[in-house]
Amino acid sequence: MASSVRAGATPLPPADTASSRDPGPERVIRAIVFDLDNTLTDFMRMKEAAIQAAIDGMIDAGFQKSREELRRRVQAIYDVRGLEFQRVFDELLELEFGEVDPKILASGVVAYRRARESELVLYPHAQMTLLELAKRGIKLGVVSDAPRFQVWLRLCTLGLQHLFDAVVTLDDTGERKPAAAPFREVLRRLGVPPAESLMIGDWAERDVVGGKSLGMKTVFARYGDTFDTKESGADYDVDDVFELVGIVDQLNGRVPVAGSPGGGPHVR
Ligand SMILES: [Mg+2]
Repeated sequence: MASSVRAGATPLPPADTASSRDPGPERVIRAIVFDLDNTLTDFMRMKEAAIQAAIDGMIDAGFQKSREELRRRVQAIYDVRGLEFQRVFDELLELEFGEVDPKILASGVVAYRRARESELVLYPHAQMTLLELAKRGIKLGVVSDAPRFQVWLRLCTLGLQHLFDAVVTLDDTGERKPAAAPFREVLRRLGVPPAESLMIGDWAERDVVGGKSLGMKTVFARYGDTFDTKESGADYDVDDVFELVGIVDQLNGRVPVAGSPGGGPHVR
């Protein structure tokens, strides 16, 4: 191996220890922390499909209201209780009938679960991205504002339950992004300082602001943006999650992968 490469950089360790698993002291990024909903999965698409399926299930079992009317009522409950509220159909039935009709509830819940299973999928190139990063020895974390069990249900549905070195949920710190606590906790578990980590998420005010406040590098998942965000404030904006691999390779001094999907990163 030529010793003259990377002129001006820190001298490379002896060739026999400079394997691909030990990229040496020049590495900048050692961990990547992912937001889950709308960053790895198209959560809103799944949620909408599951709600619609549940409404059809309840109408089929005897709920005599239009789909549009039931959709409005479900939304009104979510607006008050939050999108993670688990008893939304119980409450819908209680408000309408003063009690829960078990046949209508079961019909809605079964339809909801079926749609959730089939509609909760990864964004294009998400699995490829995670595997490429893992191959490079990058530690992988999740920080989500969703409740702990819901996060694990989603990770298991997606087949990602073994991939992450640290998973921090709302229940782990009791604080939501952009508070420092969840970011600090995931980095503590990963054992990587903020300056050697990168945060990617679809919600600029939470994921980007929170990561930045600790000194993490930040990537805005523009493909998952549901707020029509103009200025993300992140170090990078990406239209495809695979661009992350190029960003990490660039920061870590590796030659970008030829023919990688998504093109190069939009460096700010
Ligand atoms: Mg999100």
